[in-house]
Amino acid sequence: MNTTMHSHIETILWSEDQISRRVSELAAEVSADFAGCSRAPIVVGVATGAFLFLADFVRKIDFSVSVDFVRAESYGSGTESNGAPTISLDLKVDINARHVILVEDIVDTGHTLSRVIKHLKSKGASSVSVCTFLDKPARRKVNVQLVGEGKFYRGFECPDCFVVGYGMDFAEHYRNFPYIGVLKPELYE
Ligand code: 5GP
Ligand code: MG
Ligand code: MG
Repeated sequence: MNTTMHSHIETILWSEDQISRRVSELAAEVSADFAGCSRAPIVVGVATGAFLFLADFVRKIDFSVSVDFVRAESYGSGTESNGAPTISLDLKVDINARHVILVEDIVDTGHTLSRVIKHLKSKGASSVSVCTFLDKPARRKVNVQLVGEGKFYRGFECPDCFVVGYGMDFAEHYRNFPYIGVLKPELYE
């Protein structure tokens, strides 16, 4: 390998420390909100992007949760959603009559989340909350419809630019970077 590829990053938006502090706050909020439930919620991550956030988040939740993943594919290697994601990896855990916390790296147009929420609803979830690390409301095309008493949690509002790191990729690179940054535009334009 001829480069660490950290030089491909133009700006760091959130450092590892800032991310870690915000994840702890989110987990504390979610822990408090679900503390009174008779059955713990099921945490469902959207693969692959949510894997680091999910791992950090569930370790800060103060009760036992089940963890599962779905995969929804829409993004090839480009930076634009194609608007028609399909579910290409399904749940193993039964979510019927359970509270689900859907964990995402970033909500952009909202197509992916809407598709996954519809899927979780069809599997009988009694509520679907969303916990996304980043939210890019400026680019929203479809509203995220929560299920039942579900709530929307987000780590940070993201400016309208393409970000990588902390689980998020460009062409499957940069996911393992511990911070979130903006890629130099010449790398994808
Ligand atoms: P949406 O369907 O909401 O447009 O996009 C959702 C998915 O697209 C996210 O889960 C993420 O995987 C990807 N995505 C959206 N915006 C970005 C971004 O700025 N950077 C990266 N790396 N992926 C993004
Ligand atoms: Mg994602
Ligand atoms: Mg991607």
